[in-house]
Amino acid sequence: MAILVPGGAGYIGSHTVDRLIEKGYDVVVADNLATGHLASVNKNAKFYEGDIRDADFLDKIFNNEKIDGIIHFAANSIVPESMENPLKYFDNNTGGMITLLEAMQRHNVNNIIFSSTAATYGEPESIPVKETDSQVPTNPYGESKLMMEKMMKWADVAYGIKYTALRYFNVGGAKMDGSIGEDHGPETHLIPIILQVAQGTRDKLQIFGTDYPTKDGTNVRDYVHVVDLADAHILALDRLMKGGESEAFNLGSSTGFSNREMLETARKVTGKEIPAEDAPRRAGDPSTLVADSTKAREVLGWKPQHDNVEDIIASAWTWTQKHPHGYED
Ligand code: UDP
Repeated sequence: MAILVPGGAGYIGSHTVDRLIEKGYDVVVADNLATGHLASVNKNAKFYEGDIRDADFLDKIFNNEKIDGIIHFAANSIVPESMENPLKYFDNNTGGMITLLEAMQRHNVNNIIFSSTAATYGEPESIPVKETDSQVPTNPYGESKLMMEKMMKWADVAYGIKYTALRYFNVGGAKMDGSIGEDHGPETHLIPIILQVAQGTRDKLQIFGTDYPTKDGTNVRDYVHVVDLADAHILALDRLMKGGESEAFNLGSSTGFSNREMLETARKVTGKEIPAEDAPRRAGDPSTLVADSTKAREVLGWKPQHDNVEDIIASAWTWTQKHPHGYED
């Protein structure tokens, strides 16, 4: 009885693997290490290096291990990259879901927790965003994930594969001891970039867009601590394994912070100046994304423990100071 975690060497995947192990699950990680880091994978998890688009690779895992549930993270997730190279996203993300669902069907594995995204909503019709709101992505990344949600819906109808789509808003922070954290190459995310400037490995922050219809003209986002996000996956898995029906849940804090507010908070937390300049809008960015996460709290019993941006930035800062060059150290 083990949980398969495709993409378990990535940022959110590795924190979820770590929490699964802490809670006593047997864990099998599958990752092609295209963006993930072997060093981030808890040593008590079994590791298979390979690509989920490779059906033989998946067959090998399902034949060797007794898998009864899947938490699927393996995907590309950079909005600007998806605008420049959409087919990479439809190949790796959407295509990967086809081979994974086919393998699940072949091996009679019927539970999947899926790493979805607020980007499936596009420019929200109202704030906070509810699960029932319309999904009209403004970038290929969000579109690829929406297609994956739809595939799971029809795979449930046809084959009885049960899924939970967890639509993340923004994720930040690191395991509290700073032993694992966020390390993308190249880095595009706001919090790690701000902290690279704070520690002096990057010159300045560029704030992308200062003319949005928000409180200070910069984008507003809703941040969840990565360990709280990891725990939501485990709650969702337990619910599905007990016979729960297929559902989608928003995971956010229900509070929005502007990019300027994030910068100010990071200045307070780190005590560093953090030079910043205004820059043009980044393609594909919705103005405001804030979640209504009532459903996750009520149905999954999810209670985030680090529900403020100071804690999120402080834990990311601990990781950054311990690993100034990410997993290379
Ligand atoms: N952002 C920014 N400067 C950067 C990186 C990001 O101003 O160097 C902004 C970005 O435009 C967005 C917010 O920070 O408004 C969060 O972006 P991120 O890439 O971290 O996450 P996303 O919202 O795209 O999932």
